[in-house]
Amino acid sequence: MIEPFRATSDAFTPFADARNFIGGAFVEPSGDTVAPIHNPRWGRPMASVRFGTAGDVDHAVRVATEAQREWAMWPMRERAHIFYMARELVMRNIDELAWLVSHENGKIFAEARAEVEKGVECMEFGCSLPNLAAGTHLEVSRGVRCEVVDEPLGVVAGVTPFNFPFMVPLWMLPQALVGGNAFVLKPSERVPLSSQRLAAILTEAGLPKGVLNLVQGGREVVEALCDHPGIAALGFVGSTPVAKAVYGRACATGKRALCLGGAKNHLVVVPDADVALTAENVVASFAGCAGQRCMAASVLLAVGDVDPILDAIVERARKLVPGRDIGPVTTEAARTKIVGYVDAAERAGGRVRLDGRGARPTEDGWWVGPTVIDGLGPDVSAVREEIFGPVLSVVRVATLDEALRIENANPFGNAAAVYTTSGDVARRVMGSTSAGMCGVNVGVPVPREPFGFGGWNDSCFGAGNLTGWDGFRFWTRQRKITTKWALQKDATWMS
Ligand code: NAD
Repeated sequence: MIEPFRATSDAFTPFADARNFIGGAFVEPSGDTVAPIHNPRWGRPMASVRFGTAGDVDHAVRVATEAQREWAMWPMRERAHIFYMARELVMRNIDELAWLVSHENGKIFAEARAEVEKGVECMEFGCSLPNLAAGTHLEVSRGVRCEVVDEPLGVVAGVTPFNFPFMVPLWMLPQALVGGNAFVLKPSERVPLSSQRLAAILTEAGLPKGVLNLVQGGREVVEALCDHPGIAALGFVGSTPVAKAVYGRACATGKRALCLGGAKNHLVVVPDADVALTAENVVASFAGCAGQRCMAASVLLAVGDVDPILDAIVERARKLVPGRDIGPVTTEAARTKIVGYVDAAERAGGRVRLDGRGARPTEDGWWVGPTVIDGLGPDVSAVREEIFGPVLSVVRVATLDEALRIENANPFGNAAAVYTTSGDVARRVMGSTSAGMCGVNVGVPVPREPFGFGGWNDSCFGAGNLTGWDGFRFWTRQRKITTKWALQKDATWMS
């Protein structure tokens, strides 16, 4: 097993290198590539990860196939008990896990703790599944009974991004495992450490060997998961180009696939919006987790004269101290890319009202402070493309219809929100955005359990949502059993 993480502050703390987890044991991946796992606050490697190979995927699938046969025989209630136990272990170790998330991802401790708590919520949903999945039956004709039973798919797989190292694996594992599947997880190579701790905790909670396996690595491992005939379904969370490619490749081998992609979330602000509520919410949305959330606000569509609200947003964001209230971004390359978008927006005539380009609370960390660019046209790259940093692009429009046209024209469809005190304005926006997750005066409109998380358009490839009850549907299939025990004297042709 692996030791708990020792850090109790932001101070740089090394950790054990990441490994595969196959058949209940941590083993060395077999690839040649070794990558550093950076702590973005300090710009230094805290550990390293050797990449796995297609051979490692095959090994994991064979072990998982064996384990799944026995696991599927467990009553669902007993499978769910593993998550009751694991939840207690996570709560007992919550600060340690939050420090690990904070160090490998960069988000500040409070955000990391909130991420672990959200992961716990996902586990709690897994605990409730036996009650929700009780099944249904009906006497459909005289003496004939139909019963619907949820069955596992077999061995399934998940691929996760860097921005929520602990939570996103838990978008998939409770439903998939309580549903009776065995799982092969490929975490982001930038943040593989939290998944390792999660695997260790689930094992301590009693999860049988081989039911959850980790294969570390990058593209080669993901493609091997897509291609492997022993894997029945694949869940993916990451950027749009990769989500689209992975969806196509997994479907080509007949797998069930659901691939969540990137985002460009629009907030519509109208003059009657509550100033204090809007300013607090918008800043939390665009600057929280350094803007590295697929639900982060990115474009603010300012309808008419909303200057007092924009002033309040800028002043509130100005108070955030990089290093204390807002963490670094994931890599040096991400910093360069984000700054490049701000430079280009400025060249295109945007007014940088709050400039985070010079933030530098540590010498070698990768920082961008909260940034607000006003007066941009809808065609500027900072308005059209996913920046994935703490940058809010403001586009001024005269009418609500113009705002909705801009929102509707963007190819993504993860989230959208409106800030207003008018029920009618809220109703019009909620009825017209082209986004799967919408908020009224809520800047990060995450549909929490039991509701399903998932966007539309280029933010989601495949049908349905990944979390909540929809997640359970995705990772299971229904057996329909029709039963008759005796010849009916009063039978109809349907009997
Ligand atoms: P990413 O697409 O670079 O990586 C995601 C996963 O795919 C990683 O495990 C990575 O190893 C793997 N991968 C990378 N390139 C690949 C390739 N060419 N072929 C196969 N696999 C590959 O994403 P990221 O930078 O880790 O995460 C940020 C992105 O994820 C953002 O676009 C963000 O909006 C998105 N995201 C979306 C959601 C959602 O629910 N829609 C949630 C979180 C993050």
